[in-house]
Amino acid sequence: MLFEEVAKYYEKLEGISSRLGMIDILTEMFKKAKKEEMKPLIYMTQGMLAPPFEGIEIGIAEKLAEESIAIATGYSKEEVEKSFKKTGDLGVTAEQLMAQSKLKRMTKEKFEAREVFERMKKIAQTSGEGSKEAKIKELAELLASSSPLEARYIVRFALGELRLGVGDATILEALSKVATGERSFKEKLENAYNICSDLGTIGEVLVEQGMKGIENFKVSLFKPIRPALAERLPTAEEILERMGGKCAVESKYDGLRAQVHVDKKSKRVEIFSRRLERLTDMFPEIVKAALDETKGNSLIFEGEAISYDEITGQFRPFQETIQRKRKHGVEEKSEELPLHLFAFDLLYYNGEDYLDKPYEERRKKLEEVIQGNGTIRLADRIIATTPQEIDRYFEDVVSNGLEGIVAKDLKARYIAGARKFSWIKMKRSYKGELTDTVDLVIVGYYTGKGSRAEFGFGGLLAAVYNDKKDMFETITKIGTGFTEQMMQDFKKMLEKIKVEKKPARVDALIEPDFWVVPKYVITVKADEITKSPMHTAGRHEENGVEVGYALRFPRIVGGGIREDKSPEEATTTKEIIEMFNQQRKTKLTDAAP
Ligand code: ATP
Repeated sequence: MLFEEVAKYYEKLEGISSRLGMIDILTEMFKKAKKEEMKPLIYMTQGMLAPPFEGIEIGIAEKLAEESIAIATGYSKEEVEKSFKKTGDLGVTAEQLMAQSKLKRMTKEKFEAREVFERMKKIAQTSGEGSKEAKIKELAELLASSSPLEARYIVRFALGELRLGVGDATILEALSKVATGERSFKEKLENAYNICSDLGTIGEVLVEQGMKGIENFKVSLFKPIRPALAERLPTAEEILERMGGKCAVESKYDGLRAQVHVDKKSKRVEIFSRRLERLTDMFPEIVKAALDETKGNSLIFEGEAISYDEITGQFRPFQETIQRKRKHGVEEKSEELPLHLFAFDLLYYNGEDYLDKPYEERRKKLEEVIQGNGTIRLADRIIATTPQEIDRYFEDVVSNGLEGIVAKDLKARYIAGARKFSWIKMKRSYKGELTDTVDLVIVGYYTGKGSRAEFGFGGLLAAVYNDKKDMFETITKIGTGFTEQMMQDFKKMLEKIKVEKKPARVDALIEPDFWVVPKYVITVKADEITKSPMHTAGRHEENGVEVGYALRFPRIVGGGIREDKSPEEATTTKEIIEMFNQQRKTKLTDAAP
């Protein structure tokens, strides 16, 4: 398949305003791919070179790409920069300048899509001395031999901003249509995806082994499993009722979720984040402990990494733990702020898949596998049969500086990649306040008025994720809580992903000054969830009027982007409806005499 064809499909994807239309375009494109092209084509469409857990990032710096464009088109760097200022999209700049190039196209031969992919991979993997110049040269050569439209997507791909707005679920539905002509096979594909987190591999298995291959998909070491997630309830009574009168109650550590894969024979350990990015190099002490402090030859377990002060017995806040994410100073930080991993689940042990075993069996095995009191410890828990026991435990952990509890259904299997009531969280923030914070996806932004005009940023349009429809539904505009620095940062970040029209997976009735591809997640606090005719979150008819849910007095918290969540991991429409109903119940109880 020629890259030219792929670029034309991408152009169509950008122009389409319906999600179903998007699926049709993707289906047609995937059908045209040869077997061996499927994997790279899927990664490319995701804007990646490999699944996130392999840690091969593309993200070439803008300045570097500008230089490549200058070399490929014969324009000066200043001219490229000037054009970029105007278009706000370096891909479009490359396209326009290629169309009026001062140089002759290097070759008339057309690129295969795979070749573009391989060459981009090579650019990304070039490192060491002189690598900057080498990258500029390679990218310039690629551009000099491409058409203007191809240049648009090559540059965007190189920057790591394809701006297509294609989500995982969209790709899975298209693959389902490729295999069966219908979207209904998606669920099986999703199950396989949930245990390997690699859409490219799913596509490859599908074309090579057909549906049987997908149905027989197994957990494997070093391919992260998509995390099970918790529902939320505000009281111990409701939790216990939901759990059928008995459940485990674990401490909810407010750190960094880590999925640890260990193979003792090869002494290989990998650690993946909640978003399944590779964190291994950031946690040297956990890598060591995973080999030394566990039993068994091969295992996958999950836990929360958190800084813990041995002397005071206090847990440190999430912010301190996350400091470790910064690449530099890992060694010093590991001495200064030693981390512990509180293990709470076992997913695989000595070649055996544990996902389908009940929680209690997984926990028992985990207790055998992790016995020490070193860097890796077991998450603390009790078994509760009364609300009082849950409340007492809750008070106890909160007074130790923890966030709350996670109740677990003793009989439930590990449900990868889904938020289910087999895990229920109750946080201290639920007490005395109407709502928990919510994680929202930015879908647009406003330019500032008055004193904010100088920043070119006046606020955000934010959405929740409707996982049934795979759509982003607006829930609020946010204009407060920003410092000057934040305004500048948001403007810079969002400019890079702005698009001309409403992305196909965004459902909105209001129009921001600029739309952006759903990409960034922020944490927002609000006084209340209300109903509003302006927003599309959970939109339904009430007394002949269409209303959705909205937030009252929203303000951004946490200082910026939540890097550990992808847009599909934002708060869902379903959760908002549950939170709205809980809030109503609380209000009614508060109002009672
Ligand atoms: P939050 O922002 O509330 O942590 P989340 O969307 O990241 O929510 P949830 O599944 O809703 O994740 O809540 C459970 C989270 O709590 C897990 O992702 C994990 O990081 C953390 N956690 C801490 N301790 C535990 C525990 N004992 N069992 C399960 N999860 C735990």
